[in-house]
Amino acid sequence: MWPLSSSVRRTEAFANMKCFTHLADDAVAICRNCSKALCPACANETSSGIACRGKCSEELEQLGAMMRASTAAHKINRGGAAYFYPAFLVVLGIVFLAEPLLSGRPPRTFPIVAGAAFTLFGLGLGVIQLVWRRRA
Ligand SMILES: [Zn+2]
Ligand SMILES: [Zn+2]
Repeated sequence: MWPLSSSVRRTEAFANMKCFTHLADDAVAICRNCSKALCPACANETSSGIACRGKCSEELEQLGAMMRASTAAHKINRGGAAYFYPAFLVVLGIVFLAEPLLSGRPPRTFPIVAGAAFTLFGLGLGVIQLVWRRRA
């Protein structure tokens, strides 16, 4: 009897509510954009939920699209950060190793060992990330 799908079916929660526009009609849903009560004729299902037909539906769709886009962007950023840390360690290691060459001072043991350790650790971490991401 209701022209809308299961998610807009009449529930107890809306038992005493009337449509904001059609005061004689029972409300079946609440607009997610403006929070007005909606009858089946006013309610419209969007990909992000139920909204008034027209402007609210448009706004909710846009909001949903923006949310999906920002979630996608967030995932890409996190992917980039996974490589940033190993790359940072490698660069740090190379700086340690290159320091005696750049400064012209005789190489000391600690910076060489630390530099080598940073470089190897960074490379290892990078390889792990690469393998892990290929599997995922
Ligand atoms: Zn609305
Ligand atoms: Zn209505």
